[in-house]
Amino acid sequence: MTQDIVPDDALQERIAANLAAVEERIAAACARAGRARSGVTLIAVTKTRSLAEIVAAYRCGVRDFGENRVEEAADKVPALRAAFRADPATWHMIGHVQRRKARDVVALADLTHSVDSLRLATRLDRVAGEAGKRLAVLLEVNVSGEESKFGLCARDTADEPAFMATAREIAALPNVDVRGLMTMAPIVAHMEEARPVFARLRYLRDALRDATGRDWPELSMGMTDDYPVAVEEGATMVRIGRAVFA
Ligand SMILES: *Cc1c(COP(=O)(O)O)cnc(C)c1O
Repeated sequence: MTQDIVPDDALQERIAANLAAVEERIAAACARAGRARSGVTLIAVTKTRSLAEIVAAYRCGVRDFGENRVEEAADKVPALRAAFRADPATWHMIGHVQRRKARDVVALADLTHSVDSLRLATRLDRVAGEAGKRLAVLLEVNVSGEESKFGLCARDTADEPAFMATAREIAALPNVDVRGLMTMAPIVAHMEEARPVFARLRYLRDALRDATGRDWPELSMGMTDDYPVAVEEGATMVRIGRAVFA
């Protein structure tokens, strides 16, 4: 199978050029914000991408990959874990997870960004416990209030008490290790318009930290159209698909 996943030179060069451009913009955003580049992890989002494209990114040094569908991750991740076993990559589940897929997520994902309800968290906690694991997760937050979006609702101050209570309940589950928050900004014409969404996610994280007295270190926010602004607002993980692979 390694035969199938050797990228040709043109593909390798395209991905290398894309990654160099993304890297430059992340570094520039870190510099503007006075942040260390090491505080931001680039997650290459591999949905719909071939194994060869993913291997090309790996060969450029990418070690964090994100999939948004459990079925697709189940098809790709085991083969790539085998191919990358000498220097393993970290796999991120970034898309909505149905409760009946909890077992697959526990088996496949190193970090699940999309825990969007207490019911899902409770199921993941039980399945992880049965597997003798502690599952690292982020809580997905719907900051913009768009109905099309998944996530715990935290659009305005009226939503905050319920949001905080749910977040604390999930954080108290024994077999999930809540590392922080994730959000998706609305599609906007100019990335500057996404800034309030990212600033609000950071505000919610700080509020949880103050309320719980524990760290919520990770902020997963920023995609191809808006990651420089997300980095300026404190993203510790950016999830980038098109800018890496297109
Ligand atoms: C597809 C996807 C991304 C990456 O989107 P791009 O616009 O291609 O960078 C990030 N996060 C989630 C949850 C996604 O589904």
